[in-house]
Amino acid sequence: MAYDFDLYVIGAGSGGVRAARFAAGFGARVAVAESRYLGGTCVNVGCVPKKLLVYGAHFAEDFEQSSGFGWSLGEANFDWATLIANKDREINRLNGIYRNLLVNSGVTLHEAHAKIVGPHEVEVDGQRYTAENILIATGGWPQIPQIPGHEHAIGSNEAFFLKELPKRVLVVGGGYIAVEFAGIFHGLGANTTLLYRGDLFLRGFDGAVRKHLQEELTKRGMDLQFNADIARIDKQADGSLKATLKDGRVLDADCVFYATGRRPMLDNLGLENTDVQLDDKGFIKVDDQYQTTEPSILALGDVIGRVQLTPVALAEGMAVARRLFKPEQYRPVDYKMIPTAVFSLPNIGTVGLSEEEARECGHEVVIFESRFRPMKLTLTECQEKTLMKLVVDAKTDKVLGCHMVGPDAGEIVQGLAIALKAGATKRDFDDTIGVHPTAAEEFVTMRTPVGA
Ligand code: FAD
Ligand code: NDP
Repeated sequence: MAYDFDLYVIGAGSGGVRAARFAAGFGARVAVAESRYLGGTCVNVGCVPKKLLVYGAHFAEDFEQSSGFGWSLGEANFDWATLIANKDREINRLNGIYRNLLVNSGVTLHEAHAKIVGPHEVEVDGQRYTAENILIATGGWPQIPQIPGHEHAIGSNEAFFLKELPKRVLVVGGGYIAVEFAGIFHGLGANTTLLYRGDLFLRGFDGAVRKHLQEELTKRGMDLQFNADIARIDKQADGSLKATLKDGRVLDADCVFYATGRRPMLDNLGLENTDVQLDDKGFIKVDDQYQTTEPSILALGDVIGRVQLTPVALAEGMAVARRLFKPEQYRPVDYKMIPTAVFSLPNIGTVGLSEEEARECGHEVVIFESRFRPMKLTLTECQEKTLMKLVVDAKTDKVLGCHMVGPDAGEIVQGLAIALKAGATKRDFDDTIGVHPTAAEEFVTMRTPVGA
């Protein structure tokens, strides 16, 4: 049968755009449907606007510290509306770039919702199109627990478009988004409380990193409340919110922001017209080549719920395009040693195993750790400390994990990730000459183990 397209991609986010562009570049006839915004979550309500807001929040401490270097400034004033308007302008520019990227690579773009109506057929804007393969790259959506009054809370999608900076914010959750947005709100001057249901936030990260960030955020005056969760939210007559916690305490706020994970975006996708199955967490089930249980349908990115990061969706998009249209260049995605950063203030950067994971995997480990006051702060009152940590296999000397909390941690860890991927040993780190004076050089000068 002659199909309209070789590949029909649903979702023009990180993974969908990458797969579509490369498939078209390999000579395939490709179409993409996008219902909301070109570039997907990352560009519109994720990585990019988030990082811009983090930059914005960071100025508060830059202004404060500048006096130690002889600068005197008038009173610093912050205008949320300006930041959001400038952010929106930049995102609009990026939307245009994504449109050009797709169109210039020969992809047919349908800016509308797509519904799958059969294993080889989608319906978009009342039109039906057939395709040899359909790729589901529809991403995820914030998941807010349905407690009484949940309709008064916001998620990350709304946070990027608030009309004004709330004066008092309760951030619920202890993952990436909660910690990053708590830093944004706090840095921009809102009275910020982070509520996490467990003992310590950032479950899954190295224990020393979690503890260090807790200490640093507390030093900065952020209110961290662990073993705390909201039971109900009530709107007051003056428009403010009253959050009643499960332990009976009551907190007043102007904004309650939930960052409690993301569900796969499957709304009105038409999966009932296919044999696509979901896994036990509700994400689309795929094999190691991203094929669903319906042979002509593939899926990748956040909707398969493996590692919800843009560079992972990009790598999966590339793998799918190659597998379908350039099999001789196909390489599976390697999910080991994925570096990641949390853009909290200060940042976390990490690659490889945490100390806890390394021990659980049966490694005998040697731990190197360094805590120091960054040079830039020595002329200031700021008492912030940077943490660097190496987890080393005692038997093979291989570095299993690098962890950092401090300025530019994400930037520094990206380079270390290459070394770890190449199998670097602690000896290789020791034999590497440092770049002086930097914080990063500490990673090659830690000589005395703190624990084994
Ligand atoms: P998405 O980028 O979500 O794209 C899916 C697209 O499909 C969307 O544009 C959607 O509108 C469209 N769509 C859905 N259903 C349909 C349909 N039926 N028809 C047509 N179109 C449809 N990752 C990082 O690596 N670094 C970060 O700093 C980072 N920060 C983040 C901050 C926030 C607040 C959030 C929410 C996420 C962040 N992420 C970050 C995660 C990252 O954004 C995602 O992992 C990534 O966007 C996933 O890409 P994707 O292609 O799977 O889906
Ligand atoms: P995460 O899965 O990272 O964190 C969710 C948090 O919410 C956890 O602390 C979890 O607690 C808590 N939680 C879950 N359900 C409830 C509930 N019902 N009540 C109270 N607390 C709850 O999700 P995020 O929403 O923060 O982010 C989604 C994903 O997006 C991230 O995992 C990451 O992959 C990606 N992302 C990446 C970023 C980056 O690279 N810098 C930035 C932002 C997002 P518990 O730990 O106890 O389960």
